[in-house]
Amino acid sequence: MPTTDLKKSHDIIIIGGGPAGLTAARHASIAGADTVLFERDPVIGKPVRCGEGISERGLKSYISLNGPWIANRIKKVDMIAPDGSRASFESRYIGFILNREVFEQELAKKAEKLGAKIISKADVTGLYFDKKGKPSGVKLNYCGQEFIVKGSIIIGADGVESRVGRWAGINTTTKLKNMESAVQVVAEDIDVDPDICQFYFGNKIAPGGYLWIFPKSRSRANIGIGISGDRSIEMPAEDYLDKFMKEYFPDARITNRVAGGVPCNPRLKNIVKGNVILAGDAGHQVNPLTGAGIANALQAGKIAGETAAKAIESGEINYDILKKYPERWFRSRGRTHRSATNIKNYIHKISDKKLNDLAGLIRKLPENERSLLKLFLFVVKNKPELIIDAVKIFRKF
Ligand SMILES: Cc1cc2nc3c(=O)[nH]c(=O)nc-3n(C[C@H](O)[C@H](O)[C@H](O)COP(=O)(O)OP(=O)(O)OC[C@H]3O[C@@H](n4cnc5c(N)ncnc54)[C@H](O)[C@@H]3O)c2cc1C
Repeated sequence: MPTTDLKKSHDIIIIGGGPAGLTAARHASIAGADTVLFERDPVIGKPVRCGEGISERGLKSYISLNGPWIANRIKKVDMIAPDGSRASFESRYIGFILNREVFEQELAKKAEKLGAKIISKADVTGLYFDKKGKPSGVKLNYCGQEFIVKGSIIIGADGVESRVGRWAGINTTTKLKNMESAVQVVAEDIDVDPDICQFYFGNKIAPGGYLWIFPKSRSRANIGIGISGDRSIEMPAEDYLDKFMKEYFPDARITNRVAGGVPCNPRLKNIVKGNVILAGDAGHQVNPLTGAGIANALQAGKIAGETAAKAIESGEINYDILKKYPERWFRSRGRTHRSATNIKNYIHKISDKKLNDLAGLIRKLPENERSLLKLFLFVVKNKPELIIDAVKIFRKF
């Protein structure tokens, strides 16, 4: 896009073209707001720094479940305890492994069709403040030149390394223990069951986290690990992954390796300040137990885009409407977020022995009865010594 095509002002400016930003752009445009999205990378969806796993429930409201963005369908999940025993969860379709690059490009197309402008190679370098000190646009480096583009509402969807929140004066600091350190390889020429996602737990394999195998086919998988930041001081996540690969897939051909942080935080106190709102990883809206952030980013983007468009409907910014964004987010995912934080804090502290015991209990339940409530009742009945732990896990459900 030639630089002369940059418009001077928009209703809504979105910073970041990941799942959160692209979905915000789509939903703001559906509601009729003049929306622009700036992405600093040259191509939307690239590079992919993700295991690409998502549940059917998290995906189905945003995109068709048939299309080139779906790499594989998952029918079963295996949890592997430290002693190597497996507990399985099965259903018709549990989830999907995405082709995330294609997925994001499709999200971009959907937003553009509705009128959103998506501009890549556009690095936002700061907020632009008016004379009264109110954010009224962004400073931009686009094709090597500096620009100011004005906007009434600014959505920061700039991922885990987000600076938009800080620029606006929102406290987005994360404790080291809540910042997961994640590393992943794409492994080829391996032999895995393409129907099963596998999760390995234990202090020797993934302290304060887990290791995943997300198959794209029988011979190819994303294999990665996420461990809590404070545990990665003892030994980096990368070394745990290499150790696992050597033991389990010594002949794998590694065709890609990525690393990144995942903010697995309790809820951020503020995700809106004045006319600036945060969505996705930028707003720490990742599931803190699983580190899965795609579905939450889609949902946060939708609510952010809709709320921003509604707040600007009359031409003036309606701050009361903008303030509803955190409320809507909390209603949608707040309870899950709180429970996930609770379980995470427990699981990360328990010994391998207790993890083995829990896996043993899960295995005793028939597969179609493996809900959290059933598990709780089962623990109470069959393993009284785990009751206190069970109460700790389940008390906030
Ligand atoms: C190794 C790894 C594996 C993961 N696996 C999974 C998984 O299997 N399933 C899952 O659900 N989640 C997974 N996650 C988490 C998931 O990737 C994120 O939660 C998700 O991408 C969040 O989406 P987002 O739109 O908020 O941010 P992002 O996808 O990070 O998008 C932010 C975008 O903003 C752009 N940007 C940043 N700053 C600027 C700026 N100043 N100007 C312009 N553009 C800017 C970036 O280039 C980027 O494109 C994984 C994370 C890691 C690190």
